[in-house]
Amino acid sequence: MTRIAIEHGLVLTMDGAGRVIENGRVVVEGRDIVAVEHYTADPLPDCDLVIDATGRIVLPGLVNSHTHLCMVFGRTIGPERRLLEWLDLLMPMMAAMDQEALYVAELLGCVENIKNGNTSLVENIFMPPSATADIEDAAFRALRDSGIRGTVARATEARHFDPRFCETAGEQAERVGRLAGRWHGSEGDRLRLSIGPLLPWVLDENGFRETRRIARDNGLSLHMHVAESPEFNLMIARHFGRNIRQVELLEEVGCLGPDVQAIACADVSAHEIELLAASGTAVLFDPPTRLFWGTGFPPIRDFLTAGVTCGLATNGAAANCGQDVFESMKYACATAKTAANDPRALTAARALRMATVEGARAIGRPETGSIEVGKRADLITVEARQPHLAPLFDPEKALVYSARGGDVRDAVIDGKVVMRDRKVLTVDENALLSEAEQVARRCAARAGLTLPAARLMQVQDHA
Ligand SMILES: [Zn+2]
Repeated sequence: MTRIAIEHGLVLTMDGAGRVIENGRVVVEGRDIVAVEHYTADPLPDCDLVIDATGRIVLPGLVNSHTHLCMVFGRTIGPERRLLEWLDLLMPMMAAMDQEALYVAELLGCVENIKNGNTSLVENIFMPPSATADIEDAAFRALRDSGIRGTVARATEARHFDPRFCETAGEQAERVGRLAGRWHGSEGDRLRLSIGPLLPWVLDENGFRETRRIARDNGLSLHMHVAESPEFNLMIARHFGRNIRQVELLEEVGCLGPDVQAIACADVSAHEIELLAASGTAVLFDPPTRLFWGTGFPPIRDFLTAGVTCGLATNGAAANCGQDVFESMKYACATAKTAANDPRALTAARALRMATVEGARAIGRPETGSIEVGKRADLITVEARQPHLAPLFDPEKALVYSARGGDVRDAVIDGKVVMRDRKVLTVDENALLSEAEQVARRCAARAGLTLPAARLMQVQDHA
């Protein structure tokens, strides 16, 4: 069994007591954390690797609770449009992607997440179903090969959407059953499957109930966008033919609960926050993307006061153009303060918990998210000796308000060193960047999108 020690770092455990250990030592054996202690000079027997974390903060890996790696080829295409117009622009490009193209996109997204210190993510994938193969296999293969911990949340659409993407409840049940059998819990439970509608109006009431049933039958959680903007609640009223808001609808059709994850929740009433809290539904916030759409952001403090379990997310790189959860932490605090007119509406300490231990719980991964004996070993080191983090009076505030994804040096996921000194060890990054550029251009051309000419095809050094 591989044994790794990370020594001399400032360990922020994020455990229940908020233990911080100066000059610490974290020992990993196989997949698990087996010791969290002060460094001592006693030699550690049978260690395969010792990572010297002098000058670094050792932190649980960050949890990116919602993204769309499948859309990464749309980065910088359309972030100055309204959400639904942007979606219309990018869907032809996604429809032009085959399994090979999707694999490259997903792998690129995984590497970007690892380099930002995200050791765990939820990939909300929506692709046109193929008659001959399950296209989601390409996403699972990329997550598997990259070494990241990931849940593929397969979105379904049955109406009011590009017909190429739509399927019946029966087709959904068949596909989900096959994918769950192949992938859910695979790689020692590093990979999981989840399901849910992409948009609130792409299912009718029966479609929601059927999706809930399919999730239960396969032991899966539900993951879906909820109340992204006032416009979305107007669309719901129009498509359901009655004056109902999304969280009320979800309650009516039995789609709230501790195994349900609601992303965005930007336009929810006080009553809806009560429904989310009472049902134990987890809420995932994506502040950089909310700010990009310009359609409002959630009053985060109200969710915290109601006792909701909250995670943080970036959402897709085609929306906010990045996958940096440090940015999500900072903007979660900034938007919470603005919404409440109170600089303490969301503290850095709580934001850091939302990006680690609380976020892990929100996406149903309580075995990760903190540095404690017996937990799965998902860890990162962050270089703290840098001008933008000095002086290091308060490590939590420095991480949330001043650090960025590029400060992450090492990443251990499920007990394996996946990144060392910013070099991702599971993927040939240089080759991937060249391939991604070519494949993305091919897909854009197939979709009839006009892009500027290539400017930089060969990248020599991207550490
Ligand atoms: Zn999303």
